[in-house]
Amino acid sequence: MTERGLGRSSEIAQARAARAALRSSIEGSSGPQTAAGVVHIELTDGVPVLSSSDALGAVLAASARLAVLGSWERFKICPADDCLRAFFDRSRNRSRTWCSMQVCGNREKARTFRKRTRAQNSTLAAV
Ligand SMILES: [Zn+2]
Repeated sequence: MTERGLGRSSEIAQARAARAALRSSIEGSSGPQTAAGVVHIELTDGVPVLSSSDALGAVLAASARLAVLGSWERFKICPADDCLRAFFDRSRNRSRTWCSMQVCGNREKARTFRKRTRAQNSTLAAV
């Protein structure tokens, strides 16, 4: 994370803890989850609004806002073993599976196609 200019090692540790806590929440894990960061609460038109001046706090504030708005369940974890990224499902029926159909979805389609083709070829070779 330092190579991406995200900050000092203590901030990176906080960011990793926050990422782990958010990931656990997306996966529906129960139990204690902690995350650190600086989030401010401001009253705007009588409504509390969370904000932050740093990236970690902004992510945490956005997460809280999505939970309040009832959109938390739209967060998903990509099931590709070599990906496992969190993404926000914007599909109308909430059926999106992959973080990116162009990358992970197509890779899985190609893998399934190769398996099917291999099985058909071995069946033909046995005949
Ligand atoms: Zn993915």
